[in-house]
Amino acid sequence: MQNAIQVLKNAVEPLLKWYGENHRELPWRGTRDPYKIWVSEIMLQQTRVEAVKGYYAAFLEKFPTAEALANASEEEVLKAWEGLGYYSRARNLHRAAKLIAEKGFPRDFEGVRSLPGVGDYTAGAICSIAYDLPCPAVDGNVLRVLTRLTADGRNIDEMSTRIAFSQLLREVYPKEAGEFCQSLMELGAIMCVPNGEPMCPLCPWQNMCLAHLAGEEEKFPVRSEKKARKIERIFVYVLKKEGKFALRKREKRGLLAGLWEFPNTSEKERANYGQVLSEKTAKHIFTHVEWHMMGYLIEAEEFFPQFLWVTPEEMKQSYALPSAFKAFKEWVK
Ligand code: SF4
Repeated sequence: MQNAIQVLKNAVEPLLKWYGENHRELPWRGTRDPYKIWVSEIMLQQTRVEAVKGYYAAFLEKFPTAEALANASEEEVLKAWEGLGYYSRARNLHRAAKLIAEKGFPRDFEGVRSLPGVGDYTAGAICSIAYDLPCPAVDGNVLRVLTRLTADGRNIDEMSTRIAFSQLLREVYPKEAGEFCQSLMELGAIMCVPNGEPMCPLCPWQNMCLAHLAGEEEKFPVRSEKKARKIERIFVYVLKKEGKFALRKREKRGLLAGLWEFPNTSEKERANYGQVLSEKTAKHIFTHVEWHMMGYLIEAEEFFPQFLWVTPEEMKQSYALPSAFKAFKEWVK
């Protein structure tokens, strides 16, 4: 471990210099406002930078402060989140905003970590970037970069590896904690990339990275084998009657909990609602499950009372539908 500390210590300066000269301009960079940093970090969880950019700007325009977010209804918040996925993030943001509106944004790691939906990584990122506190933010990207730098063969899916690298980082954190935190993320995003070959010839660590010097970049990080995703077949019914469309709310638990959706059933419970006007297939991939969907646009025989019937305009304005149903939303007009 002593060796790893030394390697990492030597790596700090070149990384900060590289970051200063090469980082991407992203809408959430350059702010010290913990609210804005928090929103960006939550949005960036399991979501690509490119996908987040537009949402981030629109969300902050709608809810420029924690107070504004706290005063919004859950439906409004979910609507602003529509299409970003992992909707529990939006619900937690909303819950946390109510606490922040009351007590102010927490100023230390424990306080930030105690907010709903904030884990060690996010709390570390917020505290580093907003307050320059030496709080490591260690996720899969940072672990990939660090295990390559130190040629460390421990499994990065193990919590003990995460803890060990957090500890290691704490020992080398420079006073520019925010820059350092972001520079590790940036190196993982644009140099030491997760898919495909790392860009070693352009990397600021090319002369000190133990994996690269040994020509063994592909050996790291070591990960557990992934389980195959479960495949679920879903039949989706876009019911139309007199310019209105049927929606229902999902159960409060499980995948896409509590969100609006088109009526749907599993294979064994096919339903018959009226004349089929059109049909198409679509696929949606969640973290652990794949939905293979067969969708039907149907001229409904009646306003089935178990559903909420809304116009396309109302759906657009007020009801957040998960992107899993995107392909079928095209029928709503
Ligand atoms: S030298 Fe290559 S493997 Fe090492 S940190 Fe840089 S990009 Fe990653």
